[in-house]
Amino acid sequence: MEASLKDRLESIHQRIDLAAKAANRSSDEIELVVVTKNHGFELALELLGLGENQFGENRDQEAAAKAQQLAQALSPGQLAPTWHFVGQLQTNKVKSMLTYSSVLHSLDRASLLNELAKHLAKTPERALDVFIELNLTDDPNRGGIEPKTLSAFTEQVLAVPQLRLLGVMGVAGLDVDPAVDFERILNSSQQVQTLSSSAKYISAGMSGDFEQAIGYGATHLRIGTAITGKR
Ligand SMILES: *Cc1c(COP(=O)(O)O)cnc(C)c1O
Repeated sequence: MEASLKDRLESIHQRIDLAAKAANRSSDEIELVVVTKNHGFELALELLGLGENQFGENRDQEAAAKAQQLAQALSPGQLAPTWHFVGQLQTNKVKSMLTYSSVLHSLDRASLLNELAKHLAKTPERALDVFIELNLTDDPNRGGIEPKTLSAFTEQVLAVPQLRLLGVMGVAGLDVDPAVDFERILNSSQQVQTLSSSAKYISAGMSGDFEQAIGYGATHLRIGTAITGKR
């Protein structure tokens, strides 16, 4: 019989605890973001019932609809979800993303930063948590900030008062040893922390590599299919 959502979730939590222990870390400092993309709001509702409330999405249209449906399905007093946007975001979707998302993991280019600053300036009470997404490849055309521009870009992010820089984010390559990428992410994190000591968080680790990511200091795991099942 196929494992239930609850079983898969429990198994992931056990693996996080073990990997944290192996890395001499406390699992309390590791946040699980369940990537709910490709699944309906019902799955997110079920996850809320199981005690998870940090959800990740990578397409604005899908995320906006789901966030609204879930908000309507909540019972009074029920734990409210926090939405994390983890995918590449078109600048014309910034306004929509800001309506439901609290954390953007994929701040990957200057044009997106400028658009965020522009929209946030219209709502002075609004703040957004962000991670700078790194380009871990040698191809400058891939998304993400390259190591040589990381410090300059970090300064630009820090100059926008309504953005709270949490740290760096990376997606380890499939065709290379993830450890190489996780080490790069860790180095980049240290570079960013010299500019902002509070930007100490690392968004890294997915279904296939989260245990390794924990060994390299990941604080925000973005785990989809290992919990939600394939779609
Ligand atoms: C889909 C996605 C994930 C989750 O991937 P899984 O392999 O299903 O765990 C994590 N991060 C990003 C940016 C994604 O798009």
